[in-house]
Amino acid sequence: MINAQRHAFYMQYQIDAESTAIYPKTDVGLLYPYLGLAEEASEVAGKVADAINQGIWPCAVGSEEALVKELGDVMWMVSAICSDRGIQLSWVVSMTELIELHYSEGSLYTWMALPAAAGDLVSVTAKKVRKGEYPRYGMADMTVHGDEMNHLIRVVALVRACSEELGVSLDAVCKYNISKLKDRANRGVIEGSGDDR
Ligand SMILES: [Mg+2]
Repeated sequence: MINAQRHAFYMQYQIDAESTAIYPKTDVGLLYPYLGLAEEASEVAGKVADAINQGIWPCAVGSEEALVKELGDVMWMVSAICSDRGIQLSWVVSMTELIELHYSEGSLYTWMALPAAAGDLVSVTAKKVRKGEYPRYGMADMTVHGDEMNHLIRVVALVRACSEELGVSLDAVCKYNISKLKDRANRGVIEGSGDDR
């Protein structure tokens, strides 16, 4: 389990992330962070692919900050999903400590598994949408939503593993993310799109 200080940190991160969430909280709007998660996890993969293409992987020299930024974007989408579903992000983070990821450091495993796990979460949600089950049911019913919860935990566990491969903690990734969003809010450019606002 995470300690009280980290619990408080993730509680605050979730509040701060929610304060920058401007998408409509309608049935359709609630699907935004799932599609956003698919996009952001793909952006992480894209940065890794670029580094490989340029021959700078596994060191990713010069790409570390871009990767930290994209991993932070993934965490923002995870946090938004948690907020919409009434889940504490700090609880999800603490659950990741119970997961044992079998991988060898420096391999591309975590970087490939992250978009795959994000896809798994989007996939189970898409199936619920197809069956007309989403978002009518809350996630509190763990028997119905155990698969969804497992994928959510796995996404965060993989963001943490990727962060650690860069020599950065998951906490630091979230701190970077929220400072970027606060900076955008201060400059009044939170709406719209584009990485380098
Ligand atoms: Mg991004």
